[in-house]
Amino acid sequence: MSLAGGLDRRHSFINGQWQASVDAELVTIEEAATERPLGVAAMGGPAEIDRAVGAARAALAGPWGRSTPRERAAVMRRFADSLERRGESTARLVSQQNGTITPLSRISNAAGPVAFLRAMAEVAQTRSFETCRTSTKGRTIVRQEPVGVVGAITAWNYPQLLAMSKIAPALAAGCTLVLKPAPETALDAYVLGEAAEEAGLPPGVINIVAGGVRAGEALVAHPDVDKIAFTGSTAAGRAIGEAAGRALKRVSLELGGKSAAIVLPDADLDVFAKSLDDAVFKNGGQTCTTNSRILVPRGQAQEVLDVLAAYVDDLVLGDPLDEAVTLGPMVSDQHRERVRNYIRLGESEGFQLVRGGSKAPEGMTHGWFVSPTIFAGVPNGSRVAQEEIFGPVISVIPYGSEDEAVRMANDTPFGLGGVVFTQDHERGLDIVSRMRSGTVGINYYSLDMGSPFGGVKASGIGREFGPEALDHYLEYKSIYV
Ligand code: NAD
Repeated sequence: MSLAGGLDRRHSFINGQWQASVDAELVTIEEAATERPLGVAAMGGPAEIDRAVGAARAALAGPWGRSTPRERAAVMRRFADSLERRGESTARLVSQQNGTITPLSRISNAAGPVAFLRAMAEVAQTRSFETCRTSTKGRTIVRQEPVGVVGAITAWNYPQLLAMSKIAPALAAGCTLVLKPAPETALDAYVLGEAAEEAGLPPGVINIVAGGVRAGEALVAHPDVDKIAFTGSTAAGRAIGEAAGRALKRVSLELGGKSAAIVLPDADLDVFAKSLDDAVFKNGGQTCTTNSRILVPRGQAQEVLDVLAAYVDDLVLGDPLDEAVTLGPMVSDQHRERVRNYIRLGESEGFQLVRGGSKAPEGMTHGWFVSPTIFAGVPNGSRVAQEEIFGPVISVIPYGSEDEAVRMANDTPFGLGGVVFTQDHERGLDIVSRMRSGTVGINYYSLDMGSPFGGVKASGIGREFGPEALDHYLEYKSIYV
């Protein structure tokens, strides 16, 4: 231990063992709310990734590659139990690293991933992986086989859920996997290794190598990796999609967003107010589906602004481990600066600053806090309204007609979330059907792990969650008999 009392994660989890890194750099991870060192983690490089991929390939060639779905479901359930036992400490560790408030972290980094793992075990056990049909010359068995070795690369905002959105379908399908978590949340990733070990997952089925872009690029480029499952920014997704395309690897990409909430003239503003936790400010805006553009009827902008201002005034900023806190810090100093630069941009463009601003929130001398900020009268074409900020920064944008609202909602490179507020359900359904987006809500927005989730346009390719998640981890084989 180089760090008194801190977490020491300098070993990668490869082939069921905790192996000393061969080409890693040691990095100190700081607590987002206090800036105190939390632990050290090894950031692996290409040699480390090569060892992990080798282990995953070997495991695929072993008994795991011939396991039945029922056998895999049993291991997955034991794995879920092991993770559940660690749930509270995992949730807190993630909160310390990335600033997610503890109640949300318990859902998205503990209960949620466990529930999805169990759901995928159920899918593995109950769905059919083979059908037989008559052909012109005989019969054809159409079998679905594991796609092979999966390289999973994830972001830091919901690290356990993002990892599990790839691990669970990969295991259900019979694949093996190398997970490369984001460097910001390297510490909690190894909990997955401990739980896998305790649950008796065969060595090499799950391998974990923390690291940055260097490790990620090595994983994408590795010839023994058959599929890349990625969650992160659109810029990184483009680079990964390009590399995977050249190598003709399967790839699924969960990328950024700049989603819109359309408030129709008949909206119930109490319903709108109640939805803000989930739909707009979730995880301090560090959520890919954040509906950070609020489109309001031109004549009713003030009423909506009043609701938003009252919501922001009630937020309690502070340490995410404090149960009374409702808004934590940003994940890192660098990310805080990025968010603040967008606020400075809005200020310099002269948008009406309703709440917040680029100054540090009052009394917050430590930690990477940003003042929750509302801009009004923002043009939809401005950078603040078009680019993903990934923080608590909201643009209120006036519209004239319903058609204009839909046009504005669609007028970004992204297509991930979106929500419409109206008391007329049919009208709501009509509006969301015209929104070019992978997921949309009527009067609330909240991820449903039982249904496919993902984006269109620059928000990505492919879907995670729901039983459909499995499709991306399977390959058809036709056997003529
Ligand atoms: P990021 O793209 O910088 O990094 C994500 C991961 O990719 C990290 O593990 C990083 O090390 C790795 N990486 C970066 N460049 C790479 C490359 N060229 N090759 C291989 N690996 C590479 O994103 P971030 O800042 O960690 O996360 C925030 C972004 O993630 C936001 O844009 C957010 O919208 C997006 N996100 C999307 C979803 C979704 O489901 N659509 C969910 C969560 C986050």
